[in-house]
Amino acid sequence: VVNAIYVWGLSRATGGHVHLRIEDHDQGRCRDAFVEACLDDLEWLGFEPDSGLTPLDRQTERTARYEAVLDSLRAAGLAYGCTCSRREIAGRPYSGRCRALGMPLRGNVGSRLRLDDTEENAFDLARGELRQRPAEQCGDLLMRDRHGHWTYQFAVTVDDLDQGVTLVIRGADLVDSTGRQVALARALGRRHPPVFLHHGLVRAADGAKLSKSTGAPSIHALRSAGQTAAQVIGAAAAAAGLVPTGTRLDATDTPALFG
Ligand SMILES: [Zn+2]
Repeated sequence: VVNAIYVWGLSRATGGHVHLRIEDHDQGRCRDAFVEACLDDLEWLGFEPDSGLTPLDRQTERTARYEAVLDSLRAAGLAYGCTCSRREIAGRPYSGRCRALGMPLRGNVGSRLRLDDTEENAFDLARGELRQRPAEQCGDLLMRDRHGHWTYQFAVTVDDLDQGVTLVIRGADLVDSTGRQVALARALGRRHPPVFLHHGLVRAADGAKLSKSTGAPSIHALRSAGQTAAQVIGAAAAAAGLVPTGTRLDATDTPALFG
């Protein structure tokens, strides 16, 4: 709900449009039920996307486009095959050890983007200029893993380009992804990267990130308990420090928070 407040509030306050995209790579068997529940929550809260709900823009339906992008990167000499496992990399920046092996990007071979060791710059509405060196942070960027799954970094960057996204609003846990996405976008021919806003994450009293597994109530549960949408949005805005505790807020009130 906090993210929706920022996305809808800031977009509407600045005359932008909200594009709804279903990033449905990781949902497995629950994918459709999960998407339905999310859409139902948004509708109940009163957050309506400008991109409409039919057809839904789903990443799982964009495989052909992602393949074509990967082909063009390979043709430009920017993509190469990598068979290193996550265990071998062990949380360190990728060393680039498969760079010169010339493996085909087929079968159980991952695909990486060759990154120069340059500083990437982007602008964050909350943090100002971001300067990151993705080659040092993560090494050559994984775009598709050895099991054929497109990575979050790759899919959102291609989608942002194709869908004309100029403002990306997301949680502060993704700040470190910015430089590598800017580098990939440039490799894809994007001249100006999007502007970003990384907002603070609402945390439980013990500092843990809130999620269902840590006992944060779902919107569905709050709704079943008789709370109104204005109470749920108000409580989320208060938790984010945007309004005083106890405020009731309709979805249509959120642009005024950023006006
Ligand atoms: Zn490798």
